[in-house]
Amino acid sequence: MDVDALSQALITIKGVGPQTVHKLAKLGIYHAEDALFHFPIRYEDRTHISSIGSVQPGDKALIHGEILSSEVRIGRRRSLATIISDNTGELTIRQFHFSASQQRNLKRGLWVQCFGELREGPSGPELIHPEYRILTGPDKVISETSLTAIYPTTSGLGQATWRNLINAVLLKKEKHIPELISSEILRGLKLPTLLEALYLIHQPPNGTDTVALMNGVHPAQLRLAFEELLAHYLALREYRTKRQLHSAVIIPRNIELWPRLKKNLGFDLTRSQEKTICEVFTDLSSPRPCLRLIQGDVGCGKTVVAAAAALAVIESGSQVVLMAPTELLSEQHFQTFTEWFKDFGILPVWLTGRLTSKERQRVRESLASGSSKLAIGTHALFQEDVRYMDLGLVVVDEQHRFGVRQRLAMRDKGRNGDKLPHQLIMTATPIPRSLTMVLCADMDVSVIDEMPPGRQPIETVVMPNTRRHEIQQRVSSACKNGEKVYWVCSIISESDVLDAEAAVERAQSLKVDLPELRIALLHGRTQPSEKEATMKAFRAGDVDLLVATTVIEVGVDVPDATLMVIENAERLGLAQLHQLRGRIGRSDRQSVCVLMYQSPLSAVARDRLTLLKRSNDGFEISRKDLDLRGPGEILGFRQSGSPEFRIVDLGRHKVVTNWVKQAADLLYKENPELIPRLIHRWLNVVNRSPHV
Ligand code: ADP
Ligand code: MG
Repeated sequence: MDVDALSQALITIKGVGPQTVHKLAKLGIYHAEDALFHFPIRYEDRTHISSIGSVQPGDKALIHGEILSSEVRIGRRRSLATIISDNTGELTIRQFHFSASQQRNLKRGLWVQCFGELREGPSGPELIHPEYRILTGPDKVISETSLTAIYPTTSGLGQATWRNLINAVLLKKEKHIPELISSEILRGLKLPTLLEALYLIHQPPNGTDTVALMNGVHPAQLRLAFEELLAHYLALREYRTKRQLHSAVIIPRNIELWPRLKKNLGFDLTRSQEKTICEVFTDLSSPRPCLRLIQGDVGCGKTVVAAAAALAVIESGSQVVLMAPTELLSEQHFQTFTEWFKDFGILPVWLTGRLTSKERQRVRESLASGSSKLAIGTHALFQEDVRYMDLGLVVVDEQHRFGVRQRLAMRDKGRNGDKLPHQLIMTATPIPRSLTMVLCADMDVSVIDEMPPGRQPIETVVMPNTRRHEIQQRVSSACKNGEKVYWVCSIISESDVLDAEAAVERAQSLKVDLPELRIALLHGRTQPSEKEATMKAFRAGDVDLLVATTVIEVGVDVPDATLMVIENAERLGLAQLHQLRGRIGRSDRQSVCVLMYQSPLSAVARDRLTLLKRSNDGFEISRKDLDLRGPGEILGFRQSGSPEFRIVDLGRHKVVTNWVKQAADLLYKENPELIPRLIHRWLNVVNRSPHV
């Protein structure tokens, strides 16, 4: 794409200078049309005045009042405090930055209107740096006639710039935005046209159903969400078709090593595992590269399926890669596979971002020459400089950390001329069936719906942190009983430095409170060699209590751990809690998970924790979570930090999911030429927008 020519288009808009163009480019917006597909993240209601007495902390509202006083206060920070009142109450407008003229203009007796978020301040309700305007009289409020769109943005690009830009584009470029959905489909689904939808979403006219719009379910939003989901679905279907044009190594079914390993595992496979392995072997014996999703709740035993596939491929002479989302998990896999495969003379190599350059060099060479047959690691396995001699199979563990975009990006990795590796993707993310059909349209799916026999269901209890002492006693007596215990300090911030600090602090306080226990610590910033030693000690029983951040969330397998305490459980997503909890309950001993919350607990938070207490079934939890707050976190999009969709919210837009397949079939039949354009519009042009 010729970026220069396209930025020209933006720069011709009044009020858009070279600097703005540059910043827009950072958001992936090069062309006027791109701007229209940069959607508001929310709306503010400035259409009516709220009385001061009716506004609650956290509400955003348009308020007006008479100035009672305005003075500079010297507290911890110097500020200008202006007290206003209507008949229903008083509040303080607080400004930490203000000019002399601002100070002069806020005169006692004048009326002012302001818009902002109400907070509880030291001396009653406050608005901090609200937008405000002095009025010529009590009844001279200027309110908006419709909802105000708020755009996700980057520093230096204000809301006013966005509104100006969008307005200009809507006035000017409308004719150049082609409708790609046939009127037949639109009529059938009672959806507005693209242009109608774009106008409404950016500049909701007077009389718009504001409740629907604020909830994200206005027909205009449904229309755009439908188109976006359709584009994703089409991209996946295209991907599937294209994959079928490639060839792959054929793995014969008469293999010898796997049956030998199976005999030595020390347990019998469940029927579900057997069935899944059989499906995988069928895939591998085909001359076309497979892409199979293996879904199964935490602890159902997916690793052994990966081992069966890996062994078959290695036995027939090709290489295998096993990629995990965290270093910790990759290391555990490394140990498991080293142990399982040692009798066959197959030695895995471990590749992560933390190797020294010399180690890395050695590993790279062994993979390029084909002398190593099995590489286990993190995404470092697929960095530019890593080459494989003959990659036959890629296994991706815990796919919930990898979105559709990443999956599409991965397709060329390990490509060898016309040949593509087979791919298995394993996830404990319980995606509801209706969604699997759309979001996993590129894959075949196996479900392991059975737990290994003899497992005791985990007992989950919900307790406030005011009962910390009691919980600690419980931990202590469990440890004295020879049990292994996790203490999880859940995310307290966006920064893994702060999270690590919180875990360090908790480990220290627990050491003081429970001096009789052997306590170890694990977090995202622990050195790899130390991590390894800690996990080993915990596994061996030389550590009683492992204090950790959510780094242990995925995959960690210490079968005889039986108690887990999760702090601030109310801040975590249900799926994440379920994952964490899946670290225990892996043996025939009764396991207990304590969800510790910071009281008071909101009603929604209580419902969510209660659901976990009631159910051990990942699929049920996922379905309910979808109802409670949408699947952003179920599918891991929030965890990965990059929103997968620009407008689709699978929780709110469930109905859209049901339309997609039929519409796609119709497109293939009647307008296949539109398919690449739809995919391009939604997946290739504008990148995800950063959070505000
Ligand atoms: P996940 O599906 O969460 O990745 P794992 O593969 O880590 O689960 O398996 C969990 C634990 O159960 C491991 O210790 C594994 O060795 C054990 N396991 C797997 N399959 C069986 C089985 N059929 N019977 C008994 N234990 C099993
Ligand atoms: Mg696993």
